[in-house]
Amino acid sequence: MPQVLYRDPPVTLQALAQSLHNCQRCKLATLGRTQVVFGVGNPNAQVMFVGEGPGFHEDKQGEPFVGAAGKLLNELLLSAGLSRAEIYIANVVKCRPPNNRDPEPDEVETCKPFLFQQIDIIKPKLVCTLGRWSTETILERKVSITKIRAQVIRHKNLVVFPLLHPAAALHQGNLLPSLREDFGKLKHYLDEVTRVSASPPSSDAQPTKTPQVQQIQMDLF
Ligand code: URA
Repeated sequence: MPQVLYRDPPVTLQALAQSLHNCQRCKLATLGRTQVVFGVGNPNAQVMFVGEGPGFHEDKQGEPFVGAAGKLLNELLLSAGLSRAEIYIANVVKCRPPNNRDPEPDEVETCKPFLFQQIDIIKPKLVCTLGRWSTETILERKVSITKIRAQVIRHKNLVVFPLLHPAAALHQGNLLPSLREDFGKLKHYLDEVTRVSASPPSSDAQPTKTPQVQQIQMDLF
């Protein structure tokens, strides 16, 4: 009987990054990109951030969120008690779209499997999507980012926390207070979850978990 062979996906981030080196799978390869911007951070991160695609500085330096939006993101991360070193950051498309245009649907379709492979390997407890493009890609549906921002959304095996894109807040200053507020909510959520997971198991006689905390546990684990 013929054996059915399945091709295993790369099992390490390094192997996946290597498989994308000098990627030619979509037209972004020929539209002026300097390099593939794979992603950076802690390979065991509990929290992963997903942006849209590299911009000018990211394309030059080979790292996501190193330009102005990255500086704002760093500040927001600190406000949520997170550092760049403990999280992982990647983009939906790994190559810079020309003139910072939005990625086109065929480019997203081509690159998206690699984002999902990164998520499969890292297995973050929480995926924070930055902006509409990233949120729609992860949730696999159209969304209004202003309506669903800062909500904990379970999708398939992921727990997703959509956020406005820092670059949008830089262009439209009126979004900045909302973005700061949402990182405050992210901190609150992470504090709750950490506190819950650190607390000793409650006995049947002394239930200590409120329905809200139980929901948070269910949401995250
Ligand atoms: N915007 C993104 O979506 N990603 C980056 O890496 C930089 C800016």
